[in-house]
Amino acid sequence: MPIHRRKTRQVSVGDERVGVVKIGGDAPVSVQSMTSGYTFEVDACVAEINRLADAGADIVRVAVPNKKDTAALKDVLPRVKVPIVADVHFHFGRALEAVESGVHKIRLNPGNIQDRGHVKEVIAACKERGLPIRIGVNEGSIIERRDKQKRMRELGGVFSDSKHGHFLAIMIAKLEEYLDIFYEEGFFDLTISAKSPDPGLVIEAYEAVSARFDHPLHLGVTHAGPRETGAIRSVVPLGHLLASGIGDTVRISYASDPVLEVEDALEMLYCLGLRERRGVDLIACPTCGRIEVDLFTLVQDVRAKLADEIKLPIKVAVMGCIVNGPGEAEGADVAVFAGKQRGILYVQGAKVATVPESEILDRLLLEAKRFEARVLAG
Ligand code: SF4
Repeated sequence: MPIHRRKTRQVSVGDERVGVVKIGGDAPVSVQSMTSGYTFEVDACVAEINRLADAGADIVRVAVPNKKDTAALKDVLPRVKVPIVADVHFHFGRALEAVESGVHKIRLNPGNIQDRGHVKEVIAACKERGLPIRIGVNEGSIIERRDKQKRMRELGGVFSDSKHGHFLAIMIAKLEEYLDIFYEEGFFDLTISAKSPDPGLVIEAYEAVSARFDHPLHLGVTHAGPRETGAIRSVVPLGHLLASGIGDTVRISYASDPVLEVEDALEMLYCLGLRERRGVDLIACPTCGRIEVDLFTLVQDVRAKLADEIKLPIKVAVMGCIVNGPGEAEGADVAVFAGKQRGILYVQGAKVATVPESEILDRLLLEAKRFEARVLAG
């Protein structure tokens, strides 16, 4: 079933050299990640950004806690392949310095940059250069303030059925107050995020934001943990939101190599039909007591080889036996189903070879390459 995406305003991030990524409107859902190293270590920072870009990240964010980080941006930016966002907390001056260095977008946290005059200075700098700003509300960093008590009581009534009602009331009140500063300045190049480590809260928060504001939404589950557990913690709420049409750009956050964030975010978008797949669509059986080859090793080898050598989104099936093998083989471009230490290979549903187990990997790769070459030749 096609997903009907919620219509949002569109913002543009980037420049002529790195390319412009559109967020919101009818733009495809983009994938973001963040470097894990220090921005002031220029060579390592550039290498990490470009590794993320090669993995498929459309936009990369970097931390700029100190002046040496914003100063380093001048050397980082000319060497990267994708637009860069400066992640600013506590010191609005870092945002001004990052803009001066030529960064493509600013992220501000309303929980720790609250002075209206400071925010207006950042808005003016971004406006002058045509840069968008993300307002990133995190559950852990927003603080209830006495001057919003009346609005909080009203919103408390609106969210009274939710176990997260108190947070939702604070968050919406905070966003309304913060957005007013931008609107007063006639600034609308905004994206919004409302992250939490609690998947249920993430769903409710983004639904609440989506219902009230038409700015593009940057989805994320913050502090999701290592990939082993963080993948499900992230994909459950983000997949739910995206399937219901909410979300314009995504960052999955792991306490692991950020390349994994990009790979998993892309796979999530492919599965939802929200992005065109890059590379092989691999399906494989989970194995069972009927298995007669070492399928786990074979699948990992096939995945690694095909990722290196096949660029078109061809569908490859690796099946353990004849129970589901022929059916999957018919639905795949290239398939193997194994049995009795041998593999039977299919291309577009037609049997092409039977080979011993030791030759399955090479033959499957050969057939995949031949198939890709035929597709490319038209
Ligand atoms: Fe078991 Fe065969 Fe199904 Fe694989 S394809 S899970 S080996 S029945």
